[in-house]
Amino acid sequence: DVRVRFAPSPTGMLHLGGLRTALYNFLFTKAHNGSFILRIEDTDRTRLVPGSEESLEEMLKWAGLEPDEGPTKSGKYGPYRQSERVHIYKEKAHELIERGAAYHCFCTPHRLELLRKEAARRKEVPRYDNRCRQLSQEECRRRLEDGIPHVIRFKLEDKAQPFTDLVFGVTRHDVASIEGDPVILKGDGFPTYHLANVVDDHLMQISHVLRGQEWLISTGKHLMLYRAFGWTPPQFAHLPLLVNKDGTKLSKRQGDIFANHFREKGYLPQAVLNFITFCGAGFQDNKQVRTLEDMVAEFSLARVVEHPARLDWDRLQEFQREHLTRMFRTHDGQTQTIWSLRECIVQQYGKRFSDISVLPDEYILKVLETRMGHFTLLSDLVSADFQYLWDQPDITAQELVMISSHASPILRTVQNALQDMSTDQFTLEGVGPKLRDVSKAHQAVKYSTLMKMLRFVLSGRQVGPSVAEMMTTLGQQETLKRLNNALS
Ligand code: GLU
Repeated sequence: DVRVRFAPSPTGMLHLGGLRTALYNFLFTKAHNGSFILRIEDTDRTRLVPGSEESLEEMLKWAGLEPDEGPTKSGKYGPYRQSERVHIYKEKAHELIERGAAYHCFCTPHRLELLRKEAARRKEVPRYDNRCRQLSQEECRRRLEDGIPHVIRFKLEDKAQPFTDLVFGVTRHDVASIEGDPVILKGDGFPTYHLANVVDDHLMQISHVLRGQEWLISTGKHLMLYRAFGWTPPQFAHLPLLVNKDGTKLSKRQGDIFANHFREKGYLPQAVLNFITFCGAGFQDNKQVRTLEDMVAEFSLARVVEHPARLDWDRLQEFQREHLTRMFRTHDGQTQTIWSLRECIVQQYGKRFSDISVLPDEYILKVLETRMGHFTLLSDLVSADFQYLWDQPDITAQELVMISSHASPILRTVQNALQDMSTDQFTLEGVGPKLRDVSKAHQAVKYSTLMKMLRFVLSGRQVGPSVAEMMTTLGQQETLKRLNNALS
């Protein structure tokens, strides 16, 4: 049985990297009809950020990556929150002592500090010197009885054994030559990451560990733990780093490395998922626009390559436009899009727009139909450039005369010409030629000047879509009203 897990620590918002890890776990398990487990690794109490567990779960839900088992789902292998499993790790740490693979360490913080200072003086990487490995059983028992504070450390093997990572191939890191024996159970009885992670992957019967490349060097240590327990380890696949297009590291300062940021901006989850798989491989042709369902059908771990995945932000915009257009073409998607755009309008221009008699759904739909494919986010349609769609512009006769001293007579001609049109004729095909006719009849004003003037009358701005598009979107009545306002 394929069982995979996403094991975030609730230390903040979900990263794009974390989202990608969750996604690849999800894709892998769906392709194998397996189970996707969410496990919250919250044993480092000093790094907990309140609310982040809820936020992580909410983001997974948003992305459509809902776990089969997890803290809010239940399942046979729970609890799924490590802080509720502390007794298990304690027991397992003692089991390792009995097996001769771990030991109590009574070294004081003061002594460890001295070791660090000494290493710094010699310009070496500080490492624990494994002194308490040497303690006799008797001495150890005596100190325990005296209640001397202690931790439990794991005896690293001198030489690491190579293992085959499903992405990085044969890998070996001789940890023992770099670090001292690691703490697995801290003084407060809480486990460290390595112990809890290995114990849980075993007890939760995880078959494949798919996680970020930053954990690759820890894997050798984890495999030593599996051997010490006499357990069969899962298979490992480490996912390449996510970097900027130019190869530089993504940094938190950019703000936009958090998945929440994209949701708040109004990106569709499908677009964000597509974006993070685009360069990370796993697919035959990365460039394609894919839904989550397409991804499930086409994903292959064998196609994940080891070089860093470069994020191309322009692609995000393209994917967003494409997914929005696709969604808009479905019945439910259309309803949803209208609703979301109304939310943006209300937020930007006021509560009265939640009333459909003030702003009918049909009008929003018409705006969306006309503009679809030309914008990225729904919020673009409430930006200053498109304010005219929702609000009458505030323009003065003086401003109009600045564009042309012949403004009034020609605008009156336009008004008459448009007034005479039937509602059926008031389309791009009908309005465009009408405006040309008026222009021909008024030699005093150039066509381009007339357009500039009309755009200004309709929107109060100099830039924007074609005048005919503006008019047909606003509709005959509203167009005439705005012309009238400008003339009065
Ligand atoms: N809790 C670790 C993290 O925050 C999990 C690493 C792993 O998947 O083993 O990324």
